Amino acid sequence: MQLCNPQTVRGLLDKYGLAPKKAFGQNFLINPMVPERIADASASFADQSKPMGVIEIGPGVGALTQYLCQNYDKVVAIEIDRGLIPLLGEALEEFDNVTVVEADFMKIDLPEFVREHFSDILDAGGTIGVCANLPYYITTPVIMKLLESYPMTEKLPFSSIVVMIQLEVARRLAAKAGSDDYGSITASIALRAKAEKLFDVSAGNFHPVPKVASAVVGIIPHSGIREVYPDAPADEDECLAFADDVNDLINLAFGQRRKTLVNALSGKYSKEKTAAALETCGIRADIRGEKLSASEFCRITDILTTK
Ligand code: SAM
Repeated sequence: MQLCNPQTVRGLLDKYGLAPKKAFGQNFLINPMVPERIADASASFADQSKPMGVIEIGPGVGALTQYLCQNYDKVVAIEIDRGLIPLLGEALEEFDNVTVVEADFMKIDLPEFVREHFSDILDAGGTIGVCANLPYYITTPVIMKLLESYPMTEKLPFSSIVVMIQLEVARRLAAKAGSDDYGSITASIALRAKAEKLFDVSAGNFHPVPKVASAVVGIIPHSGIREVYPDAPADEDECLAFADDVNDLINLAFGQRRKTLVNALSGKYSKEKTAAALETCGIRADIRGEKLSASEFCRITDILTTK
């Protein structure tokens, strides 16, 4: 069944007595070229010679799920809307490699979920991807949960996180330090992954039509904070504490974006200490946090926290 055209989407929702729910961010894809392209982008980041699994967040009526089923050996889709579960059973009945789990992604224990559903794939040396057309209301929390469920000293267990999100947020994730779009989330993601905007998707590809344009981003994990800052502590616990300090510094710097870094950090580090750290790094004393790259945040934290 082609699950991604306006007639099928409306027909399936009608049959199950459903209407798109705003509270769950339900904007369903109605142009099959879009989910096919997203699923292909997702699979392109995996090692296709090994078993491949993927987690989908919010399958909706299965538009993207059906293409993931074609590209991956195993698909586990997490859907919060109980009403969609029987509909998905019918829509995806031709595939025997998909499991739909009724759950709120924000409430699951992600490492436990990955172990429960993908041990076979991981034990066989395979990879797990994450792919979704994310509900707009929780875009950033979902991405941060994916990144923060694992220690910052390790590589995330995902080959890629390929997600469709608001264009504005997509620009922010992939922004360069110092650009208008650069924000705390850009720097936080850079500590664990490389984010790139893959392609834009206009609002007319959804039912109902959202107010904003969208884009698909690929977040490709690297080996962790030591890849960004090789001088991070070698000891695991010390490195984890260091990573927390870096995150605090980023949040302080962007919490008061218009202030210079010296002023933004003054609640935690004296102005003299921050000014001296900047001088050691060869950075101007009046710099704002929004100009600093993730590795510069690491270096400054290292100097500020060294006794
Ligand atoms: N994948 C479908 C598509 O592309 O047409 C639907 C995408 S729609 C933008 C977002 C989906 O995420 C909806 O099916 C919604 O019910 C589901 N959803 C919303 N919040 C969720 C949550 N916290 N956990 C799991 N699914 C959620």
